[in-house]
Parts: sequence; C-alpha cells; structure tokens
Amino acid sequence: MDRNDLIACHECDALLHKPRLAAKCNACCPRCGATLYRASSIHLERICALTLGALITFLIAQAFPIVEIDMSGVTSQTTLIGALVALWNEDMQLVAIAVFCSTILFPLTELVALLYVLLPIRAGVVPPGFHRVLRAIRFVRPWGMIEVLMLGILVTIVKMTSLARVVPEAALFAFGALTLMLAVVVMFDPHTIWDLADALPSRRAGGTLAPDAPRGACDNGPGSR
Ligand SMILES: [Zn+2]
Repeated sequence: MDRNDLIACHECDALLHKPRLAAKCNACCPRCGATLYRASSIHLERICALTLGALITFLIAQAFPIVEIDMSGVTSQTTLIGALVALWNEDMQLVAIAVFCSTILFPLTELVALLYVLLPIRAGVVPPGFHRVLRAIRFVRPWGMIEVLMLGILVTIVKMTSLARVVPEAALFAFGALTLMLAVVVMFDPHTIWDLADALPSRRAGGTLAPDAPRGACDNGPGSR
C-alpha cells in the first residue's frame, strides 16, 4: 500500500484511498459524507495561462521606463532597474536591495518556479526537483505580495529627494495589471500541485481502488455535492 495514495477524512478520521476524479467532481467520505477534495484539472489550465500572462506582464513592466530622473538639469527616463541603480548611487543601498527583492526577485522566482512545475504537470510529467521547487514557492509567497508596498516606498523616497517623477506609461499600467494577476495567482494553493502530481499515471503504478475508496460525485449545479 502506497501511503501517498491515502487520505484521512477531516471529519471522522477514516483512512481512505484517493480515487482519480473527472473534472468538476468531488470525492466524498463514504462514512460521514464530508467532501474530501475536488478535482482541479480545469483549475490547472486556468492557473497555467494566468501565470504565463503574469510573467509576460512582469517583463513588460521591467522593460519600459517607469520614472523620469532629473540629474543636474538633464532628465532621462529609466526602468525600475535604472531607478534602483540611481537609489544605490544615492547611498540608499538598503532601500535598493529591499525594493529589488520585493519587486523583482520574489515575484520572478514565484512565477518561474510555478511555471517550472505547472507546465510539466500539465503534460503529465513530474519535473526534477519537484518537491524542492514547491517548498521554494511556499517560502517566497509571503514576500511576493509586498511589491506594491515597496513600489510605493520607492516612489515616495524618490519623490522626497526631488530626483524623479513617475512616468504614467506602459510600465506603470503593467505593474498595476501584474498586481491584480499576482493576487489571483497567490490564491492558488501549492498543495493542489502535490495532489495533481500524485494523480499522474506514472505515480499511480499498481494503485487500484480499494473497497474503502471515497465516493466520487460530480457538480452539475448549485446544491449538488
Ligand atoms: Zn468521514
């Protein structure tokens, strides 16, 4: 018996085998009727598309100028990275590092790591280092959402020193869209990816359903289990 193939009912503690579910189906405990988990194949398609879209938006946000810097009477538009370099040169290294981590490093790590596991899982393959990458996603997640705050801090500090003004063009709008997309992406529970990987045929060799397997039920509308 493979212990990865087992699930405990959170209501009555019954130990059950996990069946493979079709889309929009729930697994229910045969003893108490509690919903154990839901199939997430459609969810996976959606989150793959959204993560890929967020990565493209991230690249647009980084590629276009976001601030206009005034240096000795000469104004020049620069990207977020250029603004960080300006902060660094103005002896604000700590702020530059904090803004770099929260606006570039953590969101990029999360998006690339998610795509690294999601795309192979979607193709039915478990990528190398799967568990380590998922743990990395869980580690950077709490930090990924503070990019809005840090961007605000960056703008405030830059404005305070009369160095720059924000350019309301493509990069700023891309950052706005990225914030919304990241808010949806972080609602995706990495535990679901573990369940999807366990459900792959290559990981279920010999995994036949036992008599104590949960019931599968399909959602056909509100009110149905
Ligand atoms: Zn139960």
